Amino acid sequence: MIPNLQINPQRLWDSLMDTAKIGGTAKGGVSRLTLTDTDRQVRDWLKQECERLGCTVTVDEVGNMFAVRPGRRADLPPIAIGSHLDTQPTGGKFDGILGVLGGLEVLKTLQDSGYETNAPLMLVNWTNEEGSRFAPAMLGSGVYAGVFDRGYADSREDRQGVTFGEAIEAIGYRGAAKAGSVTFGAMFELHIEQGPILEQEEKVIGVVEGVQGMRWYEISVTGREAHTGSTPMPMRHDALVGAARLIDRVEGIALEHAPSAVGSVGLIEVQPNSRNVVPGHVFFTVDFRHPQDEVLDVMERKLLAAVDEMAGRGSLGVEAKKVWESPAVRFDSNCLASVRKSAQAAGYPARDMISGAGHDAAYIARVAPTAMIFVPCAGGLSHNEEESTSFEECAAGVQVLLGAVLDYDERGIERLS
Ligand SMILES: [Zn+2]
Repeated sequence: MIPNLQINPQRLWDSLMDTAKIGGTAKGGVSRLTLTDTDRQVRDWLKQECERLGCTVTVDEVGNMFAVRPGRRADLPPIAIGSHLDTQPTGGKFDGILGVLGGLEVLKTLQDSGYETNAPLMLVNWTNEEGSRFAPAMLGSGVYAGVFDRGYADSREDRQGVTFGEAIEAIGYRGAAKAGSVTFGAMFELHIEQGPILEQEEKVIGVVEGVQGMRWYEISVTGREAHTGSTPMPMRHDALVGAARLIDRVEGIALEHAPSAVGSVGLIEVQPNSRNVVPGHVFFTVDFRHPQDEVLDVMERKLLAAVDEMAGRGSLGVEAKKVWESPAVRFDSNCLASVRKSAQAAGYPARDMISGAGHDAAYIARVAPTAMIFVPCAGGLSHNEEESTSFEECAAGVQVLLGAVLDYDERGIERLS
């Protein structure tokens, strides 16, 4: 049985609206780039709120913040609730923030009722999830999980040439703890969906089973520049026509693996890009995503076969290379069971789903049992000042988060005995 505790939706909403003023924009969004003074202000606020609840706050060497509320059993690893407080330059009030302030509301609810969990609870604010000021994204959780080392993080530069290392010192959030040394037994991340599915299906809760795998390729097609008026069609080596056929194939491959596959060409450069010259060179990117790595393997083989076939015809030079890949993530079945049970107990319509976007939880899943909870956002819109999740939807997500954590805590004891 999940203990019947109710979060305080108004207090949650007020915390969302109050902190949105830190870096608040005229259009109602939030501009709070990582490791800026506005980031410092919201971190200071969070630290104070956590300490007021009697939590101990630890900061690690890349600025990740960990606030611990003790449980009855100090020998159990903490159950973490984490997301991020940084935003895009024209970001919204909910992306990431709901996961952290939702966790804070969980701690406040437990404090109000005097409820003691078995395991300690830990609220986490991951540094630089957005990757907007310092690329790549999910840098703090990535260092924590051992995907990147601290030196790499410190060396990242923003557009003004300021490094991550300089910026973290400047706001006073270089903690003493080594990244990865503050451990926990599981993590739950509540986040807005950033897609349209929940809203379309009138579901309130997404039980996020994993994050889709991603692969990025770069393709160059080389032909021969020639006069458009005087070069007969059979004599052309038109790089753009070749690229267009491959781009059409990218869409075809994605459709062959519908509905879960997506394939996109978002960037293309044509040379010399002149209206009366047959294009001699084209560079474009391919982005493939699917929840299963095995399917991505098949999509990749099809893409490379299309490239080889075009190269084999001899009229154009074609080269393709994979420049990045991120394996598909499967979240932990025990954590997911707690989320499902909690959504059901609270009476919210829920569906299982896969995240289309990357999240801190994707890296954390490499080092600890992890799951995510999604709530809808209007029109699927995010990374936008108009990003919007309703009062009721925010409250529903946090209520399910609370229930999931308490259920996991209960079952943790059962697993031990
Ligand atoms: Zn986010």
